[in-house]
Amino acid sequence: MNFYTTILGSGAAIPTVARHCSAQVVNVNGFRILLDCGENTQTQLRVYHQKMQGIAHICITHLHGDHFFGLPGLLSSMHLCGRTQPVTVYAPAGIRQSMDLLMEVSGSHIGFELNYCELDFSEGMQLLFESNLCRVYAFPLLHSVPTYGYLIEEIPRGANPPRRYAYCSDTTYTETILPFVEGVNLLCMESTFDKAFTSVAQEKLHCTTEMAATLAAKAGAKHLLLTHISARYKEPEKLLAEAQEFFPQVSIAADGERYEVQY
Ligand SMILES: [Zn+2]
Ligand SMILES: [Zn+2]
Repeated sequence: MNFYTTILGSGAAIPTVARHCSAQVVNVNGFRILLDCGENTQTQLRVYHQKMQGIAHICITHLHGDHFFGLPGLLSSMHLCGRTQPVTVYAPAGIRQSMDLLMEVSGSHIGFELNYCELDFSEGMQLLFESNLCRVYAFPLLHSVPTYGYLIEEIPRGANPPRRYAYCSDTTYTETILPFVEGVNLLCMESTFDKAFTSVAQEKLHCTTEMAATLAAKAGAKHLLLTHISARYKEPEKLLAEAQEFFPQVSIAADGERYEVQY
């Protein structure tokens, strides 16, 4: 069974030519889920051959612009291209109000069924939905606004243990995440800064390479994928080396690359 994520944007708050704002498409045997929808996501979907009309579930981690400013444009294009199938957006409380206002002042119209599932909880993990291929859960992170990580668990065929993929962006170091991501096959963590910026990361409630790698090690993750890379890092090798001091099985996400969720 295929289970992988395609990174559309691996950058932090300011997009660059090499790294767009946060977005990725998780594919569980053809069932696709969009995680975050930063500016320009709809173009990145086209560049990397991800058909937008095949996406019915969009999970937004939080309402900072680099994670959802692409949403109104994507939904408008879905409408203009004749979409008839429903879309559900999962996001922290406030998404409906912000999107409704934007649609109203711009005179935009969405002709398909658009549902919002607003997340408003601070403890535990909640099941958002399940298909015959996977289950998707949300759990709280620790950032400057309400933020949720997402866990996608395949429904295995046969006796195999289910593979699990977790996406945690944006967050600072907090061990409250550990029970939600324990033993995941692939852990995608934000790593906005290198070790030298530890105090900045703590102040802005982001992670360094060391923090992300330490969380991966403590969670017993099989593999770590670092994303949300600050525009200041032109060469990611330094970040990779720093993370590997604490957790050896690590990759730095790159736009357009596909990362398998392996056993
Ligand atoms: Zn961000
Ligand atoms: Zn943020």
